[in-house]
Formats: sequence, C-alpha cells, structure tokens
Amino acid sequence: METTTNKSDLKTDWIYSPAPESTDHIRINQRYDLFINGEFLLPEKEKYFETINPANEKKLADVAEADQADVNTAVTAARKAYENVWSKMDPAERGKYIYRIARLIQERAREFAVIETMDGGKPIRESRDIDIPLVSAHFFYYAGWADKLEYAFPGKQARSIGVAGQIIPWNFPLLMAAWKLAPALATGNTVVLKPAETTPLTAMKLAEIIQEADLPPGVVNIINGDGKTGRALVEHPGIDKIAFTGSTEVGKLIMKTVAGTGKRYTLELGGKAANIIFEDAAIDQAVEGIIDGIFFNQGHVCCAGSRLFVQESVAETVISKLKNRMETLIVGDPLDKNTDIGAINSKMQLDKIKMYVDIGLNEGGTVYQSSCKLPEKGYWHAPTLFTDVSQSHRIVQEEIFGPVLAVQTFRTVDEVITKANNTPYGLSGGVWTDKGAKIFKVSKAIRAGVLWANTFNKFDPSSPFGGYKESGMGREGGLEGLQPYVNLV
Ligand code: NAP
Ligand code: MG
Repeated sequence: METTTNKSDLKTDWIYSPAPESTDHIRINQRYDLFINGEFLLPEKEKYFETINPANEKKLADVAEADQADVNTAVTAARKAYENVWSKMDPAERGKYIYRIARLIQERAREFAVIETMDGGKPIRESRDIDIPLVSAHFFYYAGWADKLEYAFPGKQARSIGVAGQIIPWNFPLLMAAWKLAPALATGNTVVLKPAETTPLTAMKLAEIIQEADLPPGVVNIINGDGKTGRALVEHPGIDKIAFTGSTEVGKLIMKTVAGTGKRYTLELGGKAANIIFEDAAIDQAVEGIIDGIFFNQGHVCCAGSRLFVQESVAETVISKLKNRMETLIVGDPLDKNTDIGAINSKMQLDKIKMYVDIGLNEGGTVYQSSCKLPEKGYWHAPTLFTDVSQSHRIVQEEIFGPVLAVQTFRTVDEVITKANNTPYGLSGGVWTDKGAKIFKVSKAIRAGVLWANTFNKFDPSSPFGGYKESGMGREGGLEGLQPYVNLV
C-alpha cells in the first residue's frame, strides 16, 4: 500500500497555549481505607498500595488492599443489608436513593473529572464531557426503573438476586462502576465492588457520596486490591452474581470458577472492532470517526475501532487524510483542555503496546507514527498506524488496548463482512457509507453487540451494550441491563 505522505508536509506551524484545568478544588486524601458497611475500615492486614498519576508518575494516595478476610467482611455486610433493608424497601424509596447519588455526582462533576484524569491519564475533555456526565446519566436512568420493574417485564415479577460481586477495569473507572452499581441497586440487590488497582480513586470518592446520600450501610461496599482480591470475591460462597468487565483471559477464569456453583454471571470482555469505510462515505467525517474510534482514551477502549477496513478506491485518500489528522493530535498533559491524547494508564500497559508495535514490525507491517514530542516523565505512546498487514497478523487478531490502528483494504461488501467477522471477538463495529441499504446489510451480517453507522463510540444509558463470541455474555445498559440482576417469576 502507498504510504507516500511526507511528515514535513503535515506539520502545523502553530501551537495552542497551555490551558490546564485547575486542581485547587480537588481533595484527595493521603490514604483510602476499605468502604464496608457505610464506613471506612482499616484492612485486616493493614496493607496499602500506591496509586499514581501515570502522566507524571507521582503518587496520589495510598489505598487499602483487601484480602480474603476483608472480602468476607464486605460480603457479610452486603448480605445483612440485602436481607434486612434493601430487598425489603419500597422500590420507589430505593429509586430516591439512586436519584440522590446521581444528583450528588452532578454537583461534584468537576472534581470527579479532574480526579479521574489524574488517576487514570485520560484527557480532561473526555472525563469532563463523556465519563462523568454518563455516570450521572446512568444513575438517573436506572433510578427511574426502580419502581417500574413491572413494566420492564410485563406479566412477570422481577425479584432481586441477592449480593452482587462486581469487578471493573481501569479504562473508564467511574463509568464502569456506574454501569454495574445502578442496575444492581435499582433491582434491589446489594453490592461489593472492586475497582482496578491502577484507578481506585473515583470509586473512593463515590464511597463518600454514598455516605452523603445516606444509603443504608452495607448496600454498597467498595474494596480495592489486585487480581487476588478479585478472585477472592469471585470465589466467595456468599456471592450470588458476578458482574465482570475486563480481559477475555480473566473472564474465562471466572467462568471456570463459577461453573456449577449456581452463581449468575455477566462478562464484558475484550474487542477488536472493525471500522469499515466505503467509497461512498463522507470521507472527512469518516476520518474523524476513525480518529475517535482508535485514539479516543488512548485506545484504552474495549470497543475501539482498532481494525480499519477502507474500500480500495478511496484507500489512498483516506490514509493520507488520516496521517494528516494524526499529526494535528495533541498528545500531552491530560489536565490540559486542548489535549486529545493523554497518558497510557500504566507502565505495564505501555510495555504491552510497545510489544505489539514490535510484533507488527517483525511481521512485516509498515508503521506510521505521528511526530509529536512525548513528555519525558510518565507513560506515553504516539498515535500509530500500520499498513501492509493481513488477516493473520497478530496486530490484526489480538486486542492491543492502545492507540495502534491496523489498516486493511477491501473491494466488495461480502469481502469486508468476511474479513470483519474473522476475529474471536464480537463487541462492536462501525460502518461509513452514504447508502442506508449497505448499513443494514453490513450491520446485520457483522456479529457484534454494537454497530455504529456514520459515527463511532456513542453511548447512552438506555442503549444495551455487550458482546458476542469471546467479547462476553450478557448486556449492560437499557432495559436489557436489568435482566442480569433479577429472577423472573
Ligand atoms: P483485567 O486484567 O481482566 O482486569 C479487570 C479487573 O479484574 C480488574 O479489577 C482486575 O484487578 C481484576 N482481576 C484480575 N485478575 C482477576 C482474577 N483472576 N479474578 C478476578 N478479578 C481479577 O483487565 P484490564 O487489563 O484491567 O482491562 C482491560 C480489558 O478490559 C480489555 O481486555 C478490555 O477490552 C476489557 N474491557 C471490556 C469492556 C466491555 O464492556 N466489554 C469495557 C472495558 C474494558 P487489577 O486491576 O488489580 O488487575
Ligand atoms: Mg492511578
């Protein structure tokens, strides 16, 4: 494939002045304990781990590490709250608590956005305009369902399940917590939530809000730790349902652990979405969609459009425009309001991304990276694009979870459908064309939970989200998102 664009042609000769978001109004404690039974408790072994800001490697706080005994304390508190209070409460009353949480998050949205950006590395523009507004929207949406479950499941009675163990990743820390907590609470379940090790802070701020909202003690418990803590939660006999978002590898382990135990589970796992550009698409809009699809949140997105398929007749134009646009992306201080691409979440993730770039090169791919200057401290990766790759290449098959796009071409609709489906994953995809009929044909034929047409990465609490194949099972969001938390009788 032609890769003739000369980098010097693309450079912009002007820069934005820095516009950093202020951190004056932010309160981060030096230490966060376990949030169990409505209180902050010391962990049994009094062990703490550090959470850092990946943009400058500075420590933000010490966070309590929950071991098996702490998991047990949390599950016991959740069980008590379930049996004595929450499952018995009038659903309209439950709704009021959830509304209160939604409103308190709205009130403190700026603080939450800044802390999300500091702890995880994502640009403030995203945490401010996408993550946090969607968090409160989710709580509002499910608060509305709390007293309307009879309409959600006509002719059936929806009964709560019990205690849900919820385990979430680091890419959308508070949003994933909201996706898990809101439907569980609305349906009358109590919860033990485990955030990811590298991004515990907004969940701990949420614990403060839960206290402020006066939620009955034990209804929501939040404990931190690494994979071991997650495993202890999955294995705990007092858990009735596991809700997990994370890697396919850990998802498979969880399936094995819960097999035969009677525990319910939902798994939201990895992805390798195809973003398909037909020759009749509005090319400039499509280029924006490709950029958003793969570079949004540093590519730390399960539904990232990490495989690009461009119809051959427009491939040269699209790739050249794409490179041009990549050059203008601002990589740097996540707290700066102009930043497009922030820090990679952790050193481990950065090493993984670099490993995949090496693999791509060794397999014969041609790499293009934007010539942005990366900060010296912290974890950074330039927007990266590979051409000259094929279906069997590992960077086409495996989830990288970083700002690395693999570009392929196609000639016919049937060819691109076959290529797009040639992956173990099935979470999301995108199609760009002027023709409605083509949208319907492609979106029906692609086995993915979400398919965006002439747009990408759009989310709404009323819209279900989830995968096929190795991208998981069960849906979160919308009416469908209530189902995993109820028994229908
Ligand atoms: P991960 O390693 O699977 O971790 C996810 C969560 O599980 C973290 O809280 C982790 O704790 C915990 N965990 C690790 N090992 C465990 C075990 N054996 N038992 C129970 N819990 C365990 O995934 P990640 O690397 O943090 O997140 C990225 C992955 O999540 C990607 O594959 C991405 O596609 C997927 N994801 C999917 C969706 C979706 O909706 N489908 C959304 C977002 C992300 P630690 O943090 O301490 O390791
Ligand atoms: Mg951190």
